[in-house]
Amino acid sequence: MRPWPFAPRPFDEEAFGSWFGRIASRYQLSVIEAWKINQLGTFPTLTNTGWILFPSVPESTLDVLATLARLDTDRLMRIQTPSDWIVDRPDLPYCFKCLVLNPLDVTAPRWKRRWLDPGINVCEEHGTDLERIPASIARRAWNMTRLLSLVSKYRRLPSGIRPSKRY
Ligand SMILES: [Zn+2]
Repeated sequence: MRPWPFAPRPFDEEAFGSWFGRIASRYQLSVIEAWKINQLGTFPTLTNTGWILFPSVPESTLDVLATLARLDTDRLMRIQTPSDWIVDRPDLPYCFKCLVLNPLDVTAPRWKRRWLDPGINVCEEHGTDLERIPASIARRAWNMTRLLSLVSKYRRLPSGIRPSKRY
């Protein structure tokens, strides 16, 4: 098994889906294509928000991913999504400032894992109410670059014509 020529590092506060979505973006693939090309096993069943809420990955698969990305498996274990967070929801909360201003690397916007907690409403960094993107829009993104562009596009819509945030 040969490591990828380039692999973005996961950030400790990042969601696994965000990290894998950035890898897919780097190789101009969709998340599903990147999963299949790398023979990572059965693609998991996702909730209505798509791959950003990525269910916990088996350790044997994390070992393969760690080899491909030249990382310790531990690093990937730390960013797994708790199983009780894997639920359908009307929208996904996020803080736009935190999303686009990653203090560790301004060129690498990433989705924080804690935004996937179904009970979260406020940004811990900024103390502001989190913005929300409808699940249906998140699901439409095929990789992280595409998700960021859909988020930006959605934010620019006047609130009156935004698709309903509720089911
Ligand atoms: Zn923030």
